Amino acid sequence: MSQHWLKPNWDPGLTLPHLPIQHLLDQGMQALVLDVDRTLLPGHEVELPVPVKAWIKEAQHHLLLHLFSNNPSRKRIGAVATQLDLPFTCSAAKPRRVRLRKVMKQLQFEPSEVAIVGDRIFTDVLAGNRLGLYTVLVRPLRADGSPCNNNRVQLLEQKLAGWLGAQQK
Ligand SMILES: [Mg+2]
Repeated sequence: MSQHWLKPNWDPGLTLPHLPIQHLLDQGMQALVLDVDRTLLPGHEVELPVPVKAWIKEAQHHLLLHLFSNNPSRKRIGAVATQLDLPFTCSAAKPRRVRLRKVMKQLQFEPSEVAIVGDRIFTDVLAGNRLGLYTVLVRPLRADGSPCNNNRVQLLEQKLAGWLGAQQK
């Protein structure tokens, strides 16, 4: 049975810094494509939360990482990427496939070996599913790494995805 495009492969109900990296390794992942806004950073600042930095550092021991943001600000996304010493794409135009294909070409792994991690179903999950990546939905986070109380966008997207036939969880 084929996977519904609006259904993440993994939706553990956690924020990024609480994701068990071992689970990704157990699924055979070699690389991660990471959303930035509300996945790595809660607001408009560029200073990363300490638990996010620690998680990225740990993930870097095992996986290739690429920041992949729809945010058009090269300055902002570049500043985040510099802190982590990671390659990045801004203006990624998710859920379109063009720029994600380019990243996949650079990574040189099979789609099934690359996870895309983000807080949005209609951009992050949809883009990843369209190219056959392992899609991971995370909760938007607060500065301390805990889930943000304001999760209305994701809840709305989950409802819409359900109406469109994607059974969530
Ligand atoms: Mg986001």
